[in-house]
Amino acid sequence: MLRQYELVERVKAYDPDADEDLLNRAYVFSVKAHGSQLRASGDPYFSHPIQVAGILTDLELDDKTIATAILHDTIEDTVATQEEIERLFGPDVGRLVDGVTKLSKIETQTESERQAENLRKFLLAMSNDIRVLLVKLADRLHNMRTLHHIPKEEKRRRIARETMDIYAPLAERIGMYGFMEEMQELAFRHLEPEASDMITQRMARLRETTGANVHRITSAIEGVLRSRGIAASVTGREKRPYSIWRKMQARQMSFEQLSDVMAFRVIVDDESDCYRALGIVHGRWPMVPGRFKDFISTPKSNGYRSLHTSVLVGGEAARIEVQIRTRLMHEEAEYGLAAHWAYKQGKDGASAREAYPWLEDLLEVLQDAASPEELLENARLAMFQDQVFVFTPKGELYQLPGDSTPVDFAYAVHSDLGDSCVGAKVNGRAVPLRTRLVNGDQVEILKGKVKSPDPAWEAFVASAKARAAIRRHVRHKRREELLAMGAKLLDAVAGRLKVALTDEIMGPALGRLKLHDRPSLQLAMAENRLTDEEVAEALVPGAASRPSRARSARAKAAASISIEGLTPGVGFLLCDHCRPVPGDRIVGVRHPDGPISVHVIDCDHLVDESGEWLDVKWGAETAGAAARIAVVVHNQPGALASLAASIAAHNANIVGLALKHRDREFHTDLVDIEVESVTHLATILTALRQLQAVVSAERVRL
Ligand code: MN
Repeated sequence: MLRQYELVERVKAYDPDADEDLLNRAYVFSVKAHGSQLRASGDPYFSHPIQVAGILTDLELDDKTIATAILHDTIEDTVATQEEIERLFGPDVGRLVDGVTKLSKIETQTESERQAENLRKFLLAMSNDIRVLLVKLADRLHNMRTLHHIPKEEKRRRIARETMDIYAPLAERIGMYGFMEEMQELAFRHLEPEASDMITQRMARLRETTGANVHRITSAIEGVLRSRGIAASVTGREKRPYSIWRKMQARQMSFEQLSDVMAFRVIVDDESDCYRALGIVHGRWPMVPGRFKDFISTPKSNGYRSLHTSVLVGGEAARIEVQIRTRLMHEEAEYGLAAHWAYKQGKDGASAREAYPWLEDLLEVLQDAASPEELLENARLAMFQDQVFVFTPKGELYQLPGDSTPVDFAYAVHSDLGDSCVGAKVNGRAVPLRTRLVNGDQVEILKGKVKSPDPAWEAFVASAKARAAIRRHVRHKRREELLAMGAKLLDAVAGRLKVALTDEIMGPALGRLKLHDRPSLQLAMAENRLTDEEVAEALVPGAASRPSRARSARAKAAASISIEGLTPGVGFLLCDHCRPVPGDRIVGVRHPDGPISVHVIDCDHLVDESGEWLDVKWGAETAGAAARIAVVVHNQPGALASLAASIAAHNANIVGLALKHRDREFHTDLVDIEVESVTHLATILTALRQLQAVVSAERVRL
């Protein structure tokens, strides 16, 4: 633990004007207030706030922030009061400690007690003074470092989950990658202990077999740069388990397949040296195509700057990642906001908001709410399970109901974007549209040329706005389809009677049928509310009794019907058993009172159908249809995820999933996927069969 004089000396080292007396008094007050309280580790409690303060000295924060860190748990956990803190340490420290205390209170309340009012206060405090957030993040980091002392697994997991979902993304948003990474690694260890152990062990084995690679490569990079006149400090390290695990998940790779498990950082004097160093590295080792990124000319939305590349080194052709940046860029990347933070320049908190507009957005959400109820409805943040906060690629904040998907996000941004949404990327990676978003996700919507929301989306969207928009579109589309179908039926009847549908004929006919216009007649025919005979009788009274060539004429008319812009469940009904998709040879059956059902030509259920057979074909603009496949997979973690990822990678949507049966080794899943065509489906089946987790994948026609 840091001793009193050590802490003060650390602050003095970067800020000679720091208020030594303030720090000393805070230290003594905290030690006294926490008294004999103990941490789960058995350490005296006051060691915790002191360590938190220590973490913040690494960020070279001002004396008031350090004092706040020392005092941050006194109101919550001891007899000390807000008034006391304010009286003894002044209004600034009082306000900061109050902010951190409010934040901590929200954490310890049960789900239902987490009232929006508290949240608003805390967020207002936070955005008025970013120092509150910095203390809170350091507090969380230290608690994560000591989490293993907490005996109850359930509690450890809850804290780890919260860290992963809330605090690590928060640290990332303000560019504090150092904090973010450590939080993630620590949380990962508690959330996925098996995966974490597995990766740690394999890393150890790799280290044994390849020797001191990190060391060797570090000096090789340093050497080649020095020989070309660039003074660079090079550090190398193995990637941490969580970052490796995430890559394995993202790229669907096993540990062995993943080669760039080592990363090197090259720190040079100025920007032009960054590019020179890059050229030298690329000249010395072959670069891996597609991995070079220039975040100096195009910084990330949170201000991050650096050059990233991957190269092949050594006889064993190991792939390594190299990041090249200046000292300043490095400090900004590690400490984010804190590195060039307004307080250092003696400005007020406003510049933090200017630099990080998402803070401003969050504030607006909170301030716009008219009543506490509305606030509760609109502004529940991260810890509140029924809301999720996500970001556009430009860093704009959107708040959506929990369980929201990219489709909900698209409709939240703009109804046009929702209507023309065809795919989505979350955190830069293509995902299925039904993917549930989590806090901090960055969502990018891929737009199609036509506005054609898929009716199947209704089954998985979470927001009322998206659901209403999809329904509206389905109703509209259905009406169009019915009108077109009715027009063809009406033309067929007129053709058979050899009458032209002039106003002179139509007017009286509509009168007889008690309909007010031609579209309503078309709809009535398409929906089978009127038979052809009734319409014929209305057009030419007495016609129905005449012998007719109805059958052949009708067959001919029906033959011209295409399934254009097919909408499942509307106008045409696709057989639930054979599940036709575009490219299948199909046949329609017209029922006396009901929609036309469409079957694959060899569907077993065709024999059960009574009704007129129609020769139907797929229209040119068919949107796609859901096919059902049965996939047998090994019982292993991540099997379904790899399945879903592969389907998504082939631009198909999973619209339904059911576990058919499962035994010790395998389980069989029935997956409904929306595909463009038979060919598309065949491609997906082939891809699925390549997956390590998949035993077999077949189309099902029950
Ligand atoms: Mn604490």
